Amino acid sequence: MSYLERLGMAGVKTVKFDTGRGGLTELTGLDVVAALSGLDDVCCHYAHAFLTNGTSRRSVDRVVNYLSRMTEAVKPEQAKGLAVVALNENSQPQCVACGGTGIQHNYSDSLSMMIEALPCPHCKGLGRKPMKIKDKAKLIGVSWDTYNRKRDLYENELSAMKSEIANIEQRINKHGKEKLG
Ligand SMILES: [Zn+2]
Repeated sequence: MSYLERLGMAGVKTVKFDTGRGGLTELTGLDVVAALSGLDDVCCHYAHAFLTNGTSRRSVDRVVNYLSRMTEAVKPEQAKGLAVVALNENSQPQCVACGGTGIQHNYSDSLSMMIEALPCPHCKGLGRKPMKIKDKAKLIGVSWDTYNRKRDLYENELSAMKSEIANIEQRINKHGKEKLG
């Protein structure tokens, strides 16, 4: 059985794809199979991991391995930990202060907002609730002190991984839109 056939049988009842038309369309598991067929391996595994809320260990592991291979600046086990952090941060709830935009909104002074477009101080421009350093350090397998000492290195690798995750999501959504019309 192919991966996509299994995806169709994964018990996915409905899934929401952003249609880019200001609304969301509900799809069935079979629609998902049709929508994903022809996508590259990492996109399929990402979609599967996403659709199963991370309960498909195999798909999560494949995505983690893919992301961890992006860096040679840290040990392989730490790189896997970084990939898990990147995936976690990417699925954190939206920041309520900025509504997920990552930009500071100040409606009482909209002119200065447009001029400066400051990063949201609550989420530091991430648009999502940031993870605590101690939680990140634990996932990477280093101490809080080590994380702080090598913070620039880790955060750089994390933002590269998060860009790649955004890229994967874009590829899935673009592909899905083309398939579904
Ligand atoms: Zn924010």
